[in-house]
Amino acid sequence: MKIRTKIALQFTLIVATILVIFSVSLYYLLESYTRKEFNNYLVDRAKTTAQLLIKEKNIDNKLLKIFDRNTLSTLYAADVLVFNDNNEVAYSNYEADTIYYNPQLLEKVRKEKFYESTYKDKEVVGLMYKNEESQNYLILAQSEDVYGKQKLENIRDAMTIGLLSAILLTIVFGFIFSGQSLKPISRINQEVSKITAYNLTKKLSTSNNKDEIAQLARNFNEMLSRIERSFELQKSFVSNASHELRTPLAAIKSEIQVALEKERNSTEYQNILKTLYIDNQRLIQLTNGLLQLAKSEKGDESVQLSPIRIDEVLFEVQDELMHQHTNYQIAIDFEEIPEDDNWVTVLGNKPLLKTVFNNLFDNACKYSEDKLATVNIRFNRRNCIVMVSDKGIGIPNDELDKVFEPFYRTKNASSFKGHGIGLSICKRIIDMHKGRIVVKSEVGEGSTFNIILPHI
Ligand code: ADP
Repeated sequence: MKIRTKIALQFTLIVATILVIFSVSLYYLLESYTRKEFNNYLVDRAKTTAQLLIKEKNIDNKLLKIFDRNTLSTLYAADVLVFNDNNEVAYSNYEADTIYYNPQLLEKVRKEKFYESTYKDKEVVGLMYKNEESQNYLILAQSEDVYGKQKLENIRDAMTIGLLSAILLTIVFGFIFSGQSLKPISRINQEVSKITAYNLTKKLSTSNNKDEIAQLARNFNEMLSRIERSFELQKSFVSNASHELRTPLAAIKSEIQVALEKERNSTEYQNILKTLYIDNQRLIQLTNGLLQLAKSEKGDESVQLSPIRIDEVLFEVQDELMHQHTNYQIAIDFEEIPEDDNWVTVLGNKPLLKTVFNNLFDNACKYSEDKLATVNIRFNRRNCIVMVSDKGIGIPNDELDKVFEPFYRTKNASSFKGHGIGLSICKRIIDMHKGRIVVKSEVGEGSTFNIILPHI
């Protein structure tokens, strides 16, 4: 079922229920008032008859009946029965005994002093009347409220017609209003169906409204921009990756071609194999880097985090790196000794954090003449901060943001080996740990990378 129909039907159902409850209650209230009013009339009527019969000595039964039939009953014909103390009929304004009564009923009236009920279509009231000589009379009066019933019937008909018309109008207006309010959604629906992977630049038209639908369109446009950016990144990533892979592969190919041109002695073959080995190493490094980048892109959920002491990670990386590169120097120091182990403990993934510091220490040594990386550990109430500094070539100001993009290498670093993947992996891993990586650098002076990680 379409949302429009659903809303219209729900709306109608709610309004119809309210109207039915209201009309039924109103009708029953009116009915009860009408009955009460009529019963009051019957009581008056009974009292008048009793008064005339009992008080006025010169009015006898016969005269009262004539009087009754000709005057009192012009408005409503009411049957009145008056009983004496012995439950004998003292007066009846009709010849025929039309009021149904029995001794139990009379007993009840005498006991409760008042009685009202409905017998067949007629209203019956019973009451006690006392004359000046303290004689008790019991009066029963009965009549049919023909006018009241007619009035209620008319009201019921009018209410039914009104109710049906109101429900019909609610359905019509429900459809119009739901269509009106869902119009922007239909428009968005049409526009969205025109957006494909090839025209992500196309955006939904947004109004200046602040309503939920305008907000939805704006959010959708922002999501499209993000998807577009990641598509672009992916495209440039693939072309950069293939370019990086092609360079060592082309070098290997030309080295083999040159080697095959003529017969060579074993020393020459050994030298060629050494060069091929180095190129092969570069390829392995590059593919490892790409693999790590792909892993770090997988998403935060797949990474297992546990409490890790940052200083331990740093010392392990220092050890491994200085073992691999004997000319590297890595000096690690605390700015102040932590009183609490938690200040230097972060919720992290050890292999990933080791990758980060391995890249940063390696860069600091690689891009500086003295091959020295100075590492300082600092902390505050929320974060543990690791500062990796060098006195190397530095990064030009306008390229500071770009060094974290995959495959980006600064112009002044072209003479150094590298693929420009390391820092993008670092950034991704630090993001995953809900931390930040910031770089400050001055060309010719050196660089400092600050890694800010929330401690536990
Ligand atoms: P790679 O070092 O393999 O080229 P990275 O992603 O680690 O790749 O670094 C990206 C670029 O950032 C480097 O090519 C270099 O231009 C610059 N860079 C990174 N670290 C430093 C540093 N400590 N000093 C100067 N330049 C650096």
